[in-house]
Amino acid sequence: MNIGFIGLGNMGAPMAANLAKAGHRIRGFDVAGTTAEGVTPAASIAEVAQGADVVITMLPNGAILRQVADELIPHMRSGAVFIDCSTVDVESARYAAQAAENAGVMAVDAPVSGGIGGAAGGTLTFMAGGSDKAFDTAKPLFDIMGQKAVHCGDAGAGQAAKICNNMILGATMIATCEAFALADKLGLDRQKMFDVVSTSSGYSWSMNAYCPAPGVGPTSPSDNDYKPGFAAELMLKDLGLSQQAAEMVDADTPMGALARQLYAQFVENEDGKGKDFSAMLPRFASRGRDS
Ligand code: NAD
Repeated sequence: MNIGFIGLGNMGAPMAANLAKAGHRIRGFDVAGTTAEGVTPAASIAEVAQGADVVITMLPNGAILRQVADELIPHMRSGAVFIDCSTVDVESARYAAQAAENAGVMAVDAPVSGGIGGAAGGTLTFMAGGSDKAFDTAKPLFDIMGQKAVHCGDAGAGQAAKICNNMILGATMIATCEAFALADKLGLDRQKMFDVVSTSSGYSWSMNAYCPAPGVGPTSPSDNDYKPGFAAELMLKDLGLSQQAAEMVDADTPMGALARQLYAQFVENEDGKGKDFSAMLPRFASRGRDS
């Protein structure tokens, strides 16, 4: 396929390189001038769109997605597919999908989970929203860039799935970290805490697969001085998106709201920026009830 790729950053560059490696012709554009292995650099968004069967975007946020979509879609041919893999608010995803539909272009919102390692290794999970036809066209590309793609529903459904998942993740990571900090103060050994909880009803992905206590459970960012992994500021971004969505549809999400508030405090006032999101454990461990 002729594929355009816009946004060749930490995630986009390895994703585009994997598509090129699989034999697709890729033209890429990034405002920062970055490129990727096997990708032919284009001078503009319009040039990326010329003759493309598919255009993929991997951008920082919804405002930039809207701007890029407005510039891109008029240059895409009717029947082509626009796949946005960025994590953005549901409204921006629907805006881009509507703009595409108006121009006879098919659209898929397909945010990913799996991080930079998953992008490089081609093992991402895609959560997709859009028509069956658009998803079916995108699926072979998802299979190259990732190991699983779930068609979640219509436009915006991929973003909805992503932010609901990450709202659970943020809240459970905080709950796991505060429980470890409590266990410490009760004199309970962290390994014993893991042995019990990971096989009891308190288990979760945060505890079992990504244990925030160094030296306990499988290897995780806690074993590497809390270097990300999944940075606390990215978790804060996703928790902000889930609260924005909750306000839009009047959903009561008190745990998600508190998780967002705690990550905001951690990132903005407590040196959490640049640390893995599991670094909430040393944060809680160093505090008392009133600090
Ligand atoms: P990044 O900042 O490394 O890459 C974004 C790229 O977009 C940059 O290279 C930037 O120059 C480019 N860009 C910005 N405006 C542009 C424009 N108008 N036209 C063309 N290019 C433009 O970010 P990233 O880590 O690659 O993340 C991309 C998206 O993936 C984000 O939405 C993020 O939330 C999501 N995501 C990231 C991770 C992760 O671990 N990094 C995991 C899952 C999802």
